[in-house]
This record gives sequence, structure tokens and C-alpha cells, in this order.
Amino acid sequence: MDQFMERAVELATENVRDGGEPFGAVLVKNDKQVTEGVNELHSRFDITAHAEIQAMRKAQKMMHSHVLQGYTMYASGEPCPMCLTAMYFAGIETIYYCATSEDAVDAGLGKAKNIYEELQKSKDGRSIEMIHMPLKDAQEDPMQLWKERS
Ligand SMILES: [Zn+2]
Repeated sequence: MDQFMERAVELATENVRDGGEPFGAVLVKNDKQVTEGVNELHSRFDITAHAEIQAMRKAQKMMHSHVLQGYTMYASGEPCPMCLTAMYFAGIETIYYCATSEDAVDAGLGKAKNIYEELQKSKDGRSIEMIHMPLKDAQEDPMQLWKERS
């Protein structure tokens, strides 16, 4: 569906003119555009305000559901690990993208590619330190509570 990708790229171009990063996304179901989004890091103080997430947020709010099964994402740029993960959680099955991660690196936007590489490493090799803190005996276990309720 070329028109959806054309719109995603157009959104990305408009966003650069508005002072933002070159990313736009269009969320589609049954060959119809449901929502669209642009990267809004420059205007919201929110690191998760990527184009794909903004498009998903609008759809989830509209549908009163976090499930987006049967939806297709058209993204002007290859999704970063955060957006890709959000799409896994939402149940999106197909993603079309235009600019690749390598194109983004060429443009000086190399973070997503770095994070993809970081995620290939074992936990101890990553630049974010992750320290396991087991539950103290006296505290109620929320995982156990969840298990009992479901
Ligand atoms: Zn992203």
C-alpha cells in the first residue's frame, strides 16, 4: 500500500520542518489508515514519543484496548528496539519501513542501531548495569498473587 508509506514519509519530512526528527508512522487496519504519528521528542519531554508509539497510543486510546492485532505499521524509518518491542506487545504482525537503520546512522541518528547491538550482548556486557534483587521474605510476592488470581 504505497499511499500509507508515502504519508509516513511525508509526515517525517514535515516533522523535520517543524524542528523534529525525521520519523513518521501510519497505522493501518483493513487497508484503512487508523492513526498516524510523528517523533515528538522535541515538543514533549518524553523519550517514548517516537512516531510508531504515538500512532499506537492514539489507536489504543480510540479502541480502549492495548491489543492491536491485525494492524499494520508503516514507518518512515526502520523501528528502533523500543518501538519494535511495543509492536510485539501490541500484537502487530507486519511492519513496512522505508529508511534503514544504516540510513539513520548516515544521518547522525545512530542510537537505535547501537541499542540493537547492545541487546545482542549478555547482561554483564551491556552499558546499563542490571542488578538482581530477590524478594525479601517478609514482603508479599506480587508474582505469586498474580498466579493465584489467574
Ligand atoms: Zn522508536
